[in-house]
Amino acid sequence: CGVFGVYAPDENVAKLAYFGLFALQHRGQESAGIATFEADEVHLHKDMGLVTQVFNESILLELPGCLAVGHTRYSTTGSSRVVNAQPAVVPARLGKLALAHNGNLVNTISLREELLRSHCNLLTTTDSELIAFAIAQEVNQGKDWLEGAISALHRCEGAFSLVIGTPVGLMGVRDPNGIRPLVIGVLPKTPLTPVPRYVLASETCALDIIGADYLRDVEPGELVWITNEGLASFHWTNRSERKLCIFELIYFARPDSVMLESESLYSYRRRLGEQLAVEAPVIADLILGVPDSGIPAAIGYAHASGIPYAEGLIKNRYVGRTFIQPTQSMRESGIRMKLNPLKDVLVGKRVVIVDDSIVRGTTSYKIVKALRDAGATEVHMRISSPPVTHPCFYGIDTDNQDQLVAATMSVAEIRDQIGVDTLAYLSWKGMLNATQEDPLSFCSACFTGDYPIPVPERVKRSKLI
Ligand code: 5GP
Ligand code: SF4
Ligand code: MG
Repeated sequence: CGVFGVYAPDENVAKLAYFGLFALQHRGQESAGIATFEADEVHLHKDMGLVTQVFNESILLELPGCLAVGHTRYSTTGSSRVVNAQPAVVPARLGKLALAHNGNLVNTISLREELLRSHCNLLTTTDSELIAFAIAQEVNQGKDWLEGAISALHRCEGAFSLVIGTPVGLMGVRDPNGIRPLVIGVLPKTPLTPVPRYVLASETCALDIIGADYLRDVEPGELVWITNEGLASFHWTNRSERKLCIFELIYFARPDSVMLESESLYSYRRRLGEQLAVEAPVIADLILGVPDSGIPAAIGYAHASGIPYAEGLIKNRYVGRTFIQPTQSMRESGIRMKLNPLKDVLVGKRVVIVDDSIVRGTTSYKIVKALRDAGATEVHMRISSPPVTHPCFYGIDTDNQDQLVAATMSVAEIRDQIGVDTLAYLSWKGMLNATQEDPLSFCSACFTGDYPIPVPERVKRSKLI
């Protein structure tokens, strides 16, 4: 999911939230929502669909207020229905709170039972709403927003990057391991607005789009509290240890986003491709990338191998969520709705096709067939991450283990299933070394099964073979 928050005293901020969410669309295409605070009143609009389908000018005008919380959703817990869209707005003793969550709790079942025992009227099936209710419950017992949130956070286990709006300020939170990203931005001061105006967002690309400067990341286990007095930082837990999701760097986040206060993910992904060329060279005429996610690594592979990079597959840039399903006869004739090969580039060529990951293997199979049909004489596949063998319990929808092709098949078997001449994956070490950070500061459990946050047995059983 994508989360966004902005607090800019004396301004209406719904439009900033809209553009921020538009930049975070890749993090969730199921539903979108914005809640704004106007003194004690909360205005909320959320619906199924893309940001541009859910909002228009007149809807944004009905969301006045100088504090906004926004969300784009891709469901990992709770079904894909509008009641489960976020932000979750929950009443409490001191007013309403609006919460947007990215990540996945692992103690959803026990937290839900705990809240139901204390007679919470839960409205949805999401873990995110549970966090909002837990905060409201703490506040109702006499705590202020800050103390209430901190107490509630200690009841949550798993991955959570949160943006929380209240009538008095905006909160940004990361779980003790900082599994999902969250960054702080500042809108430039102007003569009319001399006070600092802060922005919170899943990725820096959402700061760029509204002209905010990247200040820093919210740290693992940190809570930032933004009020009209400025930004205050609290370390709400003393057991923080960074385990940033490596899949964010490899695939999920946008290439133009900066992570770990260092470089764009484009640069990281290019280096993955360079490393891949060192680890798994091949003699070929052209290097191709699978648009869009495989392209930076393909450029890196070409650069390191000296083999020219070419565009051999053109993506229809309007393919998003396809509401109209193709007919069966279209499907059987192998329609190419998303990617179309360039025959004159490919004919008679030995090609290397580079992608960021293989999950189910279905995309890869279709791409290889399209390349061969277009006349490629050899098709070699190179993947800029190791085989995905384990499901994610922390908020990325890499499916149940039985759907993961590398969980049950060897590389040679996958090679034959996909129909390539050769197949190679980047090593786990190569992937982590290319970060130029401490390898231990990442979660890479979907490649190893080594889960940094313990997953309760009954939750594990739901996804593991
Ligand atoms: P496959 O056909 O192996 O299932 O899909 C691999 C492709 O899906 C890659 O191009 C990769 O960019 C993309 N991908 C990787 N992880 C995910 C994920 O969690 N969800 C979705 N929808 N696509 C993914
Ligand atoms: Fe990311 Fe994989 Fe860890 Fe999930 S299991 S948080 S996708 S690295
Ligand atoms: Mg892809």
